[in-house]
Amino acid sequence: MNGSKRAYALLKTWFQLNRIPHALLFLGVKGTGKRELAELFANFLLCQHTKNILVPCYACKNCLLFKASTHPDFQEIIVPENKIIKIDTVRAVCEWVNTKPQQSNYRIVLLPALEYLNGQAANALLKTLEEPCKNVLFLLLSTNKHLIPATLFSRCQVLECKVEDDDSKIDDQQLAAIKEKLVTLQQLMVGTIMPHQLVEIWLKDKVEEVLTQLLIIWADLLKLFYNANSLLDVEPIQYELEIFKNSLKITNNLQEAWVVWNTLIKAKEILHLTQPNESLLLENIAIKIYRLA
Ligand SMILES: [Zn+2]
Repeated sequence: MNGSKRAYALLKTWFQLNRIPHALLFLGVKGTGKRELAELFANFLLCQHTKNILVPCYACKNCLLFKASTHPDFQEIIVPENKIIKIDTVRAVCEWVNTKPQQSNYRIVLLPALEYLNGQAANALLKTLEEPCKNVLFLLLSTNKHLIPATLFSRCQVLECKVEDDDSKIDDQQLAAIKEKLVTLQQLMVGTIMPHQLVEIWLKDKVEEVLTQLLIIWADLLKLFYNANSLLDVEPIQYELEIFKNSLKITNNLQEAWVVWNTLIKAKEILHLTQPNESLLLENIAIKIYRLA
């Protein structure tokens, strides 16, 4: 999987937690394996022998139909020669996607170049993404986020695909930084520091890195809530994580934990889209976590 290990790991996490977003945007330049990853994920979701490892069996009826490009629950939007995808095409596919799957649990649409939608077509897609039916999945690909309307971009979960992926493994330095963040979170929980002080400490690092570390912590935290200890990304801090988990006031449906997760995801998106006030961005997160104390 050429340079998409982190994207792959995210897909796996969403699947394992049964939280697959309705619109995934695979973002990356040519040659980063965006399409391969999107197709693998589609094939995996359609496969009848789905296991926890994101690999289809390639042998069942669904896999064979997918391979032959004739799976009734999968459609690819073909980009026309003039590279303008019009509203009629999008409308038709949006109508189709909202009907009941025939052969599997999903209806999946692959759009290989999101930037080729014209304005009306983009709006039509946006409407569907705003009120998605259950088990509908849009796999959207693009090489350039600046060519995508911000409204549409904000509706997607972004999966960045890179050629180099040296940072996909958590190294000692990163582990130390993650541990540090967890310690400060624990201090927040017991009231030794207040949200604004926490932000001051966090801002000694780059905000992008802080968000990544917090996302790693939170993903593992959610796994602990779902008793999926064996799936942890940062197993060495499991003990600290358990303590942190026990200090949170979270109800059975984990809604509060998901609110923080969504806030983190959103913060990362905002960071890529605009140049936000970093301090406010982090404080919003810190306050949301503080409310769980
Ligand atoms: Zn299969």
